[in-house]
Order: sequence, then C-alpha cells, then structure tokens
Amino acid sequence: MVNLDSHRDAVIVVDVQNDFCPGGALAVPDGDQVIPPINVLLRRANCFTVATRDWHPKNHCSFKAQGGLWPGHCVAETWGADFHPALDRSRLQLIVSKATAPDQEAYSGFQGTALAEILRDRGVQRVVIGGLATDYCVKATALDARREGFEVIVLEDAVRGVEVNPGDSDRSLEEMKQAGCTTVRTDRLMT
Ligand SMILES: [Zn+2]
Repeated sequence: MVNLDSHRDAVIVVDVQNDFCPGGALAVPDGDQVIPPINVLLRRANCFTVATRDWHPKNHCSFKAQGGLWPGHCVAETWGADFHPALDRSRLQLIVSKATAPDQEAYSGFQGTALAEILRDRGVQRVVIGGLATDYCVKATALDARREGFEVIVLEDAVRGVEVNPGDSDRSLEEMKQAGCTTVRTDRLMT
C-alpha cells in the first residue's frame, strides 16, 4: 500500500476532456474508463488536486489543417475541450491550461505553465498521475515531473493510451518506470 500525505502529495488529472473520450474528436479507446477510479481518488484524497487540459486555438499547430499530426481537438471554449461530465470537477483545486498559443504544442502539463512552481510553493514533493493518454500527455507529464524533481506515482488503472502503434501504452509505462516513476493501482493508495 502507498500512504498519501495531504501536505506533500498532489493529484494531477491529465486531460480528461470530451474530445479524448469516446464520441470525441480524438477519442482514446475506453478513455472514459479512467474516470471512476479518478473520482474515487479525488473524493478520498485530501491533498492538492490539479487537472490539466489541452486548450487550443482554432488554428493550433498540432492540427492536420496546419500540418500537424492530429485532427482538430480541444478548441478552447468548445464542448470538446470541456472536462468529461462524469469527472468530479468539484474536487479540483487548480486547472492548468496548456498549448494555448497557435505555435505552442505541449503534451506535458509542466510545459509552458507555472505548474512546477505552484507545486513547489505548496511544498508538494510527490505527484499522483492519472488520465489521458498514457502514451502522450500522461507520459510527458510524468517524465517532466521527474525532471522537475518530484516523485511520481502513475495510476495504472486510471490511464488509457491512444495506441497509434499497438503496445505504445506498455512501452510508455516502461519508459516512465525507467525514469523512476512508480506504478500502482488506485485501490492500493491509502488516503
Ligand atoms: Zn492537443
């Protein structure tokens, strides 16, 4: 079991947005399945809670129309960019918007944001990460958290991958472990 500490731990919910869930523009298979364990954790944990979100302009560089890799998704102030309605937003204390400028891409919630500074200012030493997608924004956020000096726990039952290539999720989890991240099931966390 892993004991969560209300002062030194923080939960980071990565990009649980409509466009990344079934029915969205860039749906992650079973993406909405991350929500039940995340809600359980948000409701039980009394530590700092953060959610990141893709918050793109209409002409964002990651969109195919601009020569990027992805269909248009998570355009700011649209349904697709909203958090999935099943996510318990009432438990979120901070929302971090990323990749908000046309020429700025950010898979990580730490990239181009004040997140690391905010966590350090609060005395956070360890982050617990779940959300979407394992092989992109979860991985990038976990690896950046390590680079920023935080301990990292990735919730193996509360992440799902895009799997552009089969096995990408497993390889990403392995990469996160190699970087010093721990993976646990949500029900192994004591709050
Ligand atoms: Zn995006």
